[in-house]
Amino acid sequence: MSSTPYLPLYLWIDGQKLAGGDRAHSEVINPLNGQVLARMPHATADDLQDALSSTARGFKTWRTVPAWQRAAVIERAVAWLRERRQQLESLLTLEVGKPNAEARMEVDLTLDSMTWCAEEAKRIYGRTLEPRLPHGRAVVSHEPIGPVAAFAPWNVPALLTGRKIAAALAAGCSMVIKPSEETPATCLLIAEAFAAAGLPAGVLNVVLGDPDFISRTLLASKIIRKVSFTGPEPVGRQLAKLAAENITPITMELGGHAPVIVCDDADIEAAVAASVSNKFFNAGASCIAPTRFYVQDAVYAQFVSAFVQGAKAIKLGDGFDPETTMGPLANARRLAAMERLISDAVTRGATLETGGYRIDREGYFWAPTVLTNVPEEAEIMNQEPFGPVATISRFEKLEDAIDQANRLPFGLGAYAFTRSLARANLLADRIESGMVGINTYYFGMPEGPFGGVKQSGYGSENGIEGISAYLLTKFVHMV
Ligand code: NAD
Repeated sequence: MSSTPYLPLYLWIDGQKLAGGDRAHSEVINPLNGQVLARMPHATADDLQDALSSTARGFKTWRTVPAWQRAAVIERAVAWLRERRQQLESLLTLEVGKPNAEARMEVDLTLDSMTWCAEEAKRIYGRTLEPRLPHGRAVVSHEPIGPVAAFAPWNVPALLTGRKIAAALAAGCSMVIKPSEETPATCLLIAEAFAAAGLPAGVLNVVLGDPDFISRTLLASKIIRKVSFTGPEPVGRQLAKLAAENITPITMELGGHAPVIVCDDADIEAAVAASVSNKFFNAGASCIAPTRFYVQDAVYAQFVSAFVQGAKAIKLGDGFDPETTMGPLANARRLAAMERLISDAVTRGATLETGGYRIDREGYFWAPTVLTNVPEEAEIMNQEPFGPVATISRFEKLEDAIDQANRLPFGLGAYAFTRSLARANLLADRIESGMVGINTYYFGMPEGPFGGVKQSGYGSENGIEGISAYLLTKFVHMV
């Protein structure tokens, strides 16, 4: 696939495209070569107040639109995007550096997820209770919670903006969304799909710019009745504090540090193949990327050797080249993190099995890296690396591996490989995580709730839980 041109950037407020004026700007960088893709306008204080008033008006309109019509708008937006999917895929490769096969997969997931939200809008059911008096009525119903402030990250920007928007709109909410500074065009193309689908002005507003200024301003406003955030844990902690001021509920997905337990009875060949492709998918920048592998003694050597071979076979390059299986890291911050975490581990005695260095070419390329014998106190065993590096440790007793898996204050994705049903059940029960994959890494289905426990956040996206997050429950009793 070839690149399509990058898009001009603008704020989208009350159906108007706004740029220029005395707004500050920053640059959006192509991670493949460090070149500037575009200049991004930053929302001013007035822009944000306009977006807030617009979203309040948008909510008044949208909440009265019947569910089947809301669904039809989302479905038209999906159809519009489907026709332009090549453009969306191209933006993902330009902004994040994804290999085109991964961009294609993300667009499939995005469209599936949005479609599922549209269908689910039609199934927002209440219930009736037995009245306490003759001819009474006791009704439980669900209403849209109100205008939403949403913050999406750069690593999976189409899916994470598409599903936040579609779930909120399906529930009858309006939204102001701020995409990451690194991936504004992906979000704007999705917003454009909704405009083309006939979404009334103000129901969806897109603001760009300084994340701290935007989140403080939006969350300080009583117009905002719900917050949705996906991104780093320290930012989630800050947003939760800001949201607490107005008792605004928040759904947060803050990443993890996924453990993988490989038992001695597992199909090792299949486990390695799935592990290598999921570890290095999106250059490791996935909140459910497997990172801490715990492999049982009897199969440890076989697993390490096959995993290292798999890592060495990865072909780095331009995402538009069909031969490429891993692109650059998405930004310079990830390169700095790889340098820091890997050198810390090696200084503390870890064995570098492969990789561990920046590739000598333009762009943010890092060699797929595998570490063994990493001490528990090394930073990489405690902080999410969000990059193409795996640590492999050995264990003897399953109980010890479970303790290791649960050792960190995170719990988003966790995985285990075993052919024993008894072990599978034990692991599914005992691992403290929002999602547990046994013999699989796949959590992508839109009907499956996606969310974490402990410091990985709270609430879910996807699944009926993902729509409920945007609904209030009301009890009406008539006698
Ligand atoms: P960063 O601190 O530079 O933050 C990046 C993201 O957070 C951007 O999208 C930015 O717009 C947003 N952000 C930052 N401050 C904000 C604020 N005050 N209000 C609202 N949004 C704000 O982090 P980074 O270097 O991009 O990533 C660091 C770590 O973040 C990674 O190691 C990973 O653990 C985590 N992360 C998680 C996810 C996820 O899907 N859960 C996605 C991206 C990053």
